[in-house]
Amino acid sequence: MLRGTNSEQVLDGEVSSSHPEMQRLSSLVEDDEAEPVEEVRSGTLLDLDLLDCPVCCHALTNPIFQCDNGHIACSSCCVSLRNKCPSCALPIGVYRNRLAEKILEAVNVPCPNVKHGCTNKFSYGKELAHEKECSFALCYCPEPDCNYSGLCNNLYSHYYVNHSGSRLSFTCGYNRSAWMHISDKILFLQERREGPLVAVQCFEEEQGVYVTVNCIAPCAPGVSEFSFELFYSSYFGEKTMSFGLREMNRIQKVSFETPEKDFMFVPHYFMAGRPDLKMHICIRRRGEEQEKKT
Ligand SMILES: [Zn+2]
Ligand SMILES: [Zn+2]
Ligand SMILES: [Zn+2]
Ligand SMILES: [Zn+2]
Repeated sequence: MLRGTNSEQVLDGEVSSSHPEMQRLSSLVEDDEAEPVEEVRSGTLLDLDLLDCPVCCHALTNPIFQCDNGHIACSSCCVSLRNKCPSCALPIGVYRNRLAEKILEAVNVPCPNVKHGCTNKFSYGKELAHEKECSFALCYCPEPDCNYSGLCNNLYSHYYVNHSGSRLSFTCGYNRSAWMHISDKILFLQERREGPLVAVQCFEEEQGVYVTVNCIAPCAPGVSEFSFELFYSSYFGEKTMSFGLREMNRIQKVSFETPEKDFMFVPHYFMAGRPDLKMHICIRRRGEEQEKKT
């Protein structure tokens, strides 16, 4: 959340005013969104850092307070500073700075993925929450020596074209073998030819092996939503276990750190010294599951 002097935040803030007097004087500004056409004057705020609290550096939220010298601070900083301005020591926390509050309300900040095609705009500070579930978020090619990143569909075709040797294909609703060597650490399954990419990973620790299943995709509604069931069986089939998630986790980048949640744990004594995990997996598309239920 620290915003500091990040120069990327400095771009593209738009300030608009809907004050009637200003509208009368204004020239018409075309609005390319489908909202009701309103005559508003707009300009560009060149430094979005101005909208961060100068004390805590987080995005300002209303109410905004000022001291007699005009220094501003957010309401939580006024409390933690015990109403003493950090710049001049005069009292702060009673008088609000209405102009700063109005400017804050009038600012439209584009999604940080605007350069990748997202057209969403937000009030200042809200764009970060959206970024986490933006369908234009970049995904990274999981192959160790490849630096490709792109929108998930582009990544899927990139993967199909460039790394066909290391992938297995899966079909939703069908069991498929996911037998893997523990030393391989990762196994990729791709739906059809250029469909979503699923990573099955194993992480060997002292007591056993953790196995995870993740789809490489942004956490956006409607994008690569799957459920899965993973089945493990010891080599001669005398011990079995299964693990599944109604909602497969989506990640933009694979991580090689031992997971803390959402894993299947196969203890070493299940494996009887074998170097591989005999598994199969069934992946389902989430919408299709719901259709079956209704
Ligand atoms: Zn603050
Ligand atoms: Zn002051
Ligand atoms: Zn976005
Ligand atoms: Zn690649």
